[in-house]
Amino acid sequence: MWPEIAQHISRVTGSPFEVQQRRSVGGGSINQAYQISGYDRSYFLKTNQASQLAMFEQEALGLKEIADSKTVLAPRPLGCGVAGNVAYIVMDWIDLGGGGTAAWEAMGHSLAAMHRVTNSQGFGWHQDNTIGATPQKNPWTADWAEFFRDHRLAYQFRLAQRRGGSFPQQDELLAAVPQLLAGHYPEPALVHGDLWSGNAAISAEGEPVLLDPAVYYGDREVDLGMTEVFGGFPAAFYRGYNDAHPLDKGYEQRKVLYNLYHILNHFNLFGGSYQSQAQRMIARLLS
Ligand code: ADP
Repeated sequence: MWPEIAQHISRVTGSPFEVQQRRSVGGGSINQAYQISGYDRSYFLKTNQASQLAMFEQEALGLKEIADSKTVLAPRPLGCGVAGNVAYIVMDWIDLGGGGTAAWEAMGHSLAAMHRVTNSQGFGWHQDNTIGATPQKNPWTADWAEFFRDHRLAYQFRLAQRRGGSFPQQDELLAAVPQLLAGHYPEPALVHGDLWSGNAAISAEGEPVLLDPAVYYGDREVDLGMTEVFGGFPAAFYRGYNDAHPLDKGYEQRKVLYNLYHILNHFNLFGGSYQSQAQRMIARLLS
């Protein structure tokens, strides 16, 4: 596999490359990840079963969509392929550092700028992708409540049912989505889609970086909500975001609805107590 990947990099960059060193990188939840180095250059490589090639192709398109927005740094994908029985994606390596207050404030500004990128086709994307390893459907849809109900929550509920999950109030919740979002008319915004703390970092040079996206055009609040699911980002991030693009009234309630998508997805990926967490969120939304 390594010579094939090196050949791929040599071809795409037009400069000979050989994997002289490789080291496993932790922190991801779905794939094997490596730093591969040779001839004084480093790349970030993720591998999975060959059947997961499409997932990597979609990730590459997502990284490119973010990079093309020129609002925030994302690693440049060098392409994907299959080597032996392994699918891979390779992208630029970015040295990640700690990041102080100013860098996180800049992250807030950059994300707000990315969220001002819109499109005329509505909510969705030109391409389905994945959230973690779960398929994520993105058909262009004019109405946000319809999109979120049908292609986010209802889709995850169906997967959960197949997994044996039980959500007695699910139909009631789905029926209530238009009401829960009534009076809220977001612009379709380019969103990262999976913005937990493992997917946002500060480079060694102090620049905000977004990683591993599940992009689509949606309500920008889905990204803000996701930042709070597993512990939250530094306070400077929220300050920076709100300076640049203040959140609309009602965010705190919508956040629970939006984060339900991720908790259902976690139930579908990992099972366990995510079921009762989702049930509690549904009860709260219907109370
Ligand atoms: P997974 O798809 O398995 O969740 P990620 O894409 O989230 O994997 O990557 C896992 C970790 O690797 C990240 O949390 C980050 O610390 C690091 N990482 C990701 N992309 C890069 C990159 N381009 N350069 C350097 N480190 C990276």
